[in-house]
Amino acid sequence: MPKGSTRMHWLLMSGSDHNDNQTKMNISQLIRKNIRALKPYSTARDEFKGGDISVWLDANESPYPNGVNRYPDPHQKRVKRLIASLFGVAPEAIFLGGAGSDEAIDITFRIFCEPGNDNVVAITPSYGVYKVAADINDVEIREVELNSDFSLPVARMLEASDSHTKLIWICSPNNPTGNAFPKEEVLKLSESFHGIVVVDEAYADFSGEGSLLPEIQSHPNIIVLRTFSKAWGLAGMRCGMAFAVPEITEYYNRVKYPYNMSSLIQEELARRIVEGTGNHIEEIIREREHMASKLSEAACVEKVYPSDANFLLVKVSDADAIYDYLIANGVIVRNRSRMPLCDGTLRITIGTPEENAKTLTLLNNYR
Ligand SMILES: *Cc1c(COP(=O)(O)O)cnc(C)c1O
Repeated sequence: MPKGSTRMHWLLMSGSDHNDNQTKMNISQLIRKNIRALKPYSTARDEFKGGDISVWLDANESPYPNGVNRYPDPHQKRVKRLIASLFGVAPEAIFLGGAGSDEAIDITFRIFCEPGNDNVVAITPSYGVYKVAADINDVEIREVELNSDFSLPVARMLEASDSHTKLIWICSPNNPTGNAFPKEEVLKLSESFHGIVVVDEAYADFSGEGSLLPEIQSHPNIIVLRTFSKAWGLAGMRCGMAFAVPEITEYYNRVKYPYNMSSLIQEELARRIVEGTGNHIEEIIREREHMASKLSEAACVEKVYPSDANFLLVKVSDADAIYDYLIANGVIVRNRSRMPLCDGTLRITIGTPEENAKTLTLLNNYR
């Protein structure tokens, strides 16, 4: 089972006492005014209050069954119940994105940030989607470089923020540096910051650091992003999640497109969760450690950074040339050498043992 799936019985169950007035007030003050006032689209099925219906003439659907002639559940109730028990949270603590966690990232900007007025703070180097989503939403992004050892520059992040800073973006384990930040540092940051701290935990299942999910209860200004794309091996299904106190997820659910996850995907995701992951987390971690030690012996490799994820950041003698050499031999990696602090690096995903062996042989033979 992936990490985070150990049961946290107390977390975010309805009626728990995180729900005090203080919290409510702070959160709602951070929400954009128009979003706070938003009256969401009400679907035909929202207006259906129950009853023994056998003839559905409320949604202008085709009456002829073909497996997908009916609209999907806009609230994704069944799959959310399964995710809730998997992660030990209440269903109300979950937002489910049918375009992956990229959808959660975009909606986070739209809920909290007034275009042209508010700003966010993020770390760099990190996942590129935060900046693209900020640019699309016309929100200034203040990128703060990690410390040279890739540790979290907590003081500089706080210094970069002002009264218009709504969000701080953290990716942990961080893409592309691979390291997870100590939980205590993220908690400290959330305690010192007046806005929301978003922690993207796409790779948390590969890390020993553990998830911040259990801390949301005591730190309601933390939003945790998770995804089915990595450890669950379902990148093609596009299922991402945001976990937060219900005062926040309520807004995600208001802002999202009503039918943002197709019935085919809801059914398939539910089936996969019930079946279990068939995941390869332990195998990938084992391969990662094996690759890290073997790679560091290759002549063209100068440094292999420690990794809490399913990839390795590797400093090589000539990143551009080695990148091209690998492609010429049928292997593609990610050239990260133009990112801050990542001069001369390639990011190598952990593949199957055979794929890793092939990559290793190529690098050993590089002259
Ligand atoms: C891969 C990745 C994701 C996953 O995005 P999806 O849209 O859910 O596939 C999210 N965040 C980071 C940092 C990633 O590297």
